[in-house]
Amino acid sequence: MNDQSLPVCLCLTGRTIAEDLAILDTQRAFVDMVELRADYLDPAEKFLLRSFPEKAGLPCILTVRRRCDGGLFQDGEGVRLVMMAKAISFAKDDANANFAYLDVEDDFHVDTLEEACRTFGTKIIRSHHSLKNVPENLDEIWERLCQEEDAIPKLAVTPTDSAELARFLRWSATLPPRDKILVAAGEFGVPARILASRLGSMLTFSSVPTSGAVQAAPGQLAPQVLDSIYRVRETGAESDCYMLLGGKSVLGSLSPYLHSRAFRDSDKDALMVPLPSASMQSALDNMRFFRAKGAAITVPFKEEVLPFLTFKSVDVQRIGACNTLVLGDGTLAGYNTDADGFERSALEFLKRTDFRGMKVTLLGAGGAAKSVALALYRKGAECIILNRTISTARSLGRKYGFRWGPLDDRAIDLITEYSDLIVQATSVGMQGGIPGDPLGFYEFDGHERVYDLVYRPAKTQFLRRAEAASCQIINGYRMLCYQAAGQYRIWMGQEPPDSYFAV
Ligand code: NAP
Repeated sequence: MNDQSLPVCLCLTGRTIAEDLAILDTQRAFVDMVELRADYLDPAEKFLLRSFPEKAGLPCILTVRRRCDGGLFQDGEGVRLVMMAKAISFAKDDANANFAYLDVEDDFHVDTLEEACRTFGTKIIRSHHSLKNVPENLDEIWERLCQEEDAIPKLAVTPTDSAELARFLRWSATLPPRDKILVAAGEFGVPARILASRLGSMLTFSSVPTSGAVQAAPGQLAPQVLDSIYRVRETGAESDCYMLLGGKSVLGSLSPYLHSRAFRDSDKDALMVPLPSASMQSALDNMRFFRAKGAAITVPFKEEVLPFLTFKSVDVQRIGACNTLVLGDGTLAGYNTDADGFERSALEFLKRTDFRGMKVTLLGAGGAAKSVALALYRKGAECIILNRTISTARSLGRKYGFRWGPLDDRAIDLITEYSDLIVQATSVGMQGGIPGDPLGFYEFDGHERVYDLVYRPAKTQFLRRAEAASCQIINGYRMLCYQAAGQYRIWMGQEPPDSYFAV
């Protein structure tokens, strides 16, 4: 574990103390402290809190969150007060057997409870939760949270898009150093959870969604994910940060996994973090805030990023799309590793060194198809491009002297002629996307080699049909690995480790 690493707090939302302890036992290796969410406990359990810290064996936060603050507690404030008082009282000499922290909201002031906390060595976390947005009056809220010198202010907000996250991050940079907890919840808040130390937060919250217990706050990641994919326990606030920029789908992408594994295997003090974004400008603001050194880019920003680039590689200029960024002081250099990724994976699949003499059908004319077309062109293929929108097929075809046509049964004869290799580069068949088979009107006869750029699911309907007709098939996973390895080469200036190609 890195000395500078971000402490991870496991938020426990079981219905019984025994269930919470069982969950903690499965996660102990990945967490530094726990939060007992007593508002999730069954009624009979609510007065058994006192023994929890000793059983947990880690520093504990006690929270009894009301419904209006995003919790489940709906009895009166009197009951809540008694629960908290019983949980922190009868303090033991061994501080580890007491709650280390009590979370109370900014409108809940009970002098006797606070006095008891001070006497028994339980620190107060003074919290405020904005469940729907990032409020405009952040300064005012913060001032309220900071009124007691010895309490720890905690502010949780919910950015509705990446511009709201940017505003919250900018604001966090104005805060003087002190112990504090800052949380950005929801999908747009995920990068701020992983990189919470860059906001000056003393910890990040996590939860285990598969345990049967529910997730206490949207966007919380599992401790094991924070550890193994986002490396929070191996890296610190000064480690090199790379980001995966795209829409919300980046939260389920394999890229952070591939890069993290490579960073770990090559001993790099670096991590990769998804950055779901609603606009290119806010994505850039957030990357600058997090001091990102580079980024991988995916849909829908590969073209939108072009006007922001201060340098464009030859491939970016030719393809008209960028999937890799290097951020410098005021500079933004753009590269594209997709063409190379396709070329290497396809030639490996075909056991060839080029596409000379091959007649290839390319389905699609979007960003990915543009990279594939460049690779097919520079390694000598003859090609026809078929797309639902024929005008984009035409302009891509003209660029490389390829033929083009519509993606429907009028193209059957052309496909039969260009059938040494069929490359599927539309977004049809992608998990969570448009279902179906874009070439359903064509019958494979088994001699075609068939490449689908989609890698999730591993076999699309299109690929399954080709396989059933005895075609040799490949999905987009190897391309993903090769393009990621190319990104590593650009960012690190050295050859990527083999781990990019491990299964
Ligand atoms: P894109 O720029 O949005 O292009 C989408 C393409 O799919 C366009 O040609 C579009 O046709 C076509 N399309 C969309 N819906 C369709 C439908 N219902 N029927 C027929 N065609 C349809 O996306 P992209 O960046 O090129 O990505 C395409 C796919 O490649 C995605 O599945 C992506 O995950 C995959 N990809 C894989 C890798 C890898 O490393 N393996 C790398 C990059 C991309 P229109 O022009 O008519 O809209």
